Amino acid sequence: MTGPVVVPDHPFRRHLEKGAGARHSGAMEEDRTLTCVDCGLKFIFSAAEQREHVRRGYEHEPRRCPPCRAEARRSRRPPGPGHITLCASCGIEVALPAPPPQGRAVLCDACRAPR
Ligand SMILES: [Zn+2]
Ligand SMILES: [Zn+2]
Repeated sequence: MTGPVVVPDHPFRRHLEKGAGARHSGAMEEDRTLTCVDCGLKFIFSAAEQREHVRRGYEHEPRRCPPCRAEARRSRRPPGPGHITLCASCGIEVALPAPPPQGRAVLCDACRAPR
């Protein structure tokens, strides 16, 4: 019988196997392109972000691009205690702990602050 010649522990062969294995386990360390479910744009989910994602214990990849994620977080937040009214000077929204007195002009922090 002539079986195949087996080289028990050839240093070159060991080197090859190690190289192939390393390439496979490194697949996670790549930037990935994901599609945002909100705006449909593609965004980069970088290797660093993936690591941060795993570190925080998230199992699923993000479904929204960073701007849409920020927007979703903003709209999810309850309006807060009190009432929203408009600044009498610049017109931006001002959150008040209680409804403003009738006929009283409401100013935002910026307009109320002394210049
Ligand atoms: Zn988006
Ligand atoms: Zn104002």
